[in-house]
Amino acid sequence: MRRTHMAGELRPTHAGQRVTLAGWVHRSRDHGGVIFVDVRDRAGIVQVVFHPDTAADAFRVAETLRSEDVIAVTGTVQMRPADMVNPKLATGEVEVIAETVEVLNRSRTPPFVIRDEVKANEELRLKYRYLDLRRPRMQRNLHLRHRTIKFIRDWLDERGFWEVETPILIKSTPEGARDFLVPSRLQPGKFYALPQSPQQLKQLLMVAGVDRYFQIARCFRDEDLRGDRQPEFTQLDLEMAFVDEEDVIALNEALMIALAEAVVPQKRILQVPFPRLGYAEALERYGSDKPDLRFGLELVDVGHVWAETEFRVFRAVLAEGGAVKAVRAPGLATYSRKQIDELEALARQWGARGLAWVKVQEGGKLQGSVARFLGDGARTALLEATGAEPGDLVLMVAGAPELVADVLGRLRLEVGERLGLRDPDVLAFAWIVDFPLFEWDEEEGRWDAVHHPFTAPKDEDVQLLESDPGRVRAKAYDLVGNGWELAGGSVRIHRRDVQQRVFELLDISPERAQERFGHMLEAFEYGAPPHGGIAWGLDRVVMLFADEPNIREVIAFPKTASGVDVMTGAPGEVDPEQLAELHIRVVLPEPPADPGHSSRAEEGGK
Ligand code: ASP
Repeated sequence: MRRTHMAGELRPTHAGQRVTLAGWVHRSRDHGGVIFVDVRDRAGIVQVVFHPDTAADAFRVAETLRSEDVIAVTGTVQMRPADMVNPKLATGEVEVIAETVEVLNRSRTPPFVIRDEVKANEELRLKYRYLDLRRPRMQRNLHLRHRTIKFIRDWLDERGFWEVETPILIKSTPEGARDFLVPSRLQPGKFYALPQSPQQLKQLLMVAGVDRYFQIARCFRDEDLRGDRQPEFTQLDLEMAFVDEEDVIALNEALMIALAEAVVPQKRILQVPFPRLGYAEALERYGSDKPDLRFGLELVDVGHVWAETEFRVFRAVLAEGGAVKAVRAPGLATYSRKQIDELEALARQWGARGLAWVKVQEGGKLQGSVARFLGDGARTALLEATGAEPGDLVLMVAGAPELVADVLGRLRLEVGERLGLRDPDVLAFAWIVDFPLFEWDEEEGRWDAVHHPFTAPKDEDVQLLESDPGRVRAKAYDLVGNGWELAGGSVRIHRRDVQQRVFELLDISPERAQERFGHMLEAFEYGAPPHGGIAWGLDRVVMLFADEPNIREVIAFPKTASGVDVMTGAPGEVDPEQLAELHIRVVLPEPPADPGHSSRAEEGGK
């Protein structure tokens, strides 16, 4: 080995030892005849000192060192003088007095400085991802991800789970997104789909008697991207035979608790056992099926307050079956008009027609955009419903119930954020249960599966399948944490007759069901055990643990929002021969007309 120690590991216990380090020049400073070089490796940074008198050759080399040069340096660890200790550095009590140095490689000036407070825009960071990943924060994220996956594997192994790999080239499996397709060379005109999840395969593994399966599985969904989405992402995929909802929930809850305690011990889990919320209740109280439960500030219905007033706008909404709901913002009566306008702009951006608000003053008097419509009775009713006290600001939105829930749910998060109630060191997990099995798709005019078509209805609701599909509840559960959906799963249908009834309801004809899912229906006829499972969005879990705002920060080589890998240039064009082999002809969309160009062409034609 070219090194005896890692730079970032040196501590006072090493004082007096002769060490050889290998790493990158993090920073180099010439301090009046003495050169200080911070050497960085995966473990951290240590200061190396070059003296011209005692190590003249090494000093001459040190004069030429620039950021990101790769060096091996040998020297002796010594304690720093008390006034030179750097408490911000883990190695800050020691330094290495260099004797020799070897330049292993030179670096061009990097496009951005390798340190945590990076100024570069994300596109540049992704183009030079190998430099971006040198940043201590990114190294920490990669390590956290590694430890998370390792912990999960060991924990599940101890409980009898087998990791089984399932194919990447499969037949389309529906999870509600668009498939990525791979053309087949050997079967002209046919395509594989990349798995949106291993859903059907893990169910077939249960039919196969595997009993307890898991996989750190890559999944592919061709969707428009958001901060918490990537076209390829990683799931902890898991399935168990002979279980019901409680078994899957209990096992996953135990795993999440053990995992968090092991890899992010500095974080506190707010509530154990994890609270459970019905889907409808979550929407009602938090305006979201993935509520952030680190704080209260629940949505409250104030329709009854406004029904009694002369405020026509709200009364009209109520008369049309709409809702008026409120969120209390404690202490924000200090907000200026401008700050409230900001909140209103957000509400509008999210689809509300406006934002009504009142400030509660000393003695319970109200002031604000709609205060004059509130007589004494209505005022008391509003204060009672919202629990608002002097100094509070009450925000209200009116409209269709789903819109009100969504907008006010987001405003609740915004208020929580502004009040510092979203403490990153707190983990608030919860299970969302009692999902409906189907939702009505207005556009398509048919029922759609809320989860996926293999989710079992609750036993007592099976009889409603044909008569009242909207009321059928699913044996499904989601795990949410700090406002993110972290996992989702269900007990599955394991009988052919029930599966067929669900397919029919989803308007999948028997022929189409046979063509797409014939293998599943057939498998169910050969002794399929009752089974259920779940899948975690592993990137999101690591993102949450790492306090990162989006999953790209915890994926080594992610894609941009337009699905591009700016480092390698994927997706790219391919050779015509490759296309010919695949029996594919590319027909590009017409480029949007360039007005300047086309008018000239017209002139030319005259
Ligand atoms: N396959 C499902 C998903 O990807 C998870 C599950 O039902 O286990 O959301």
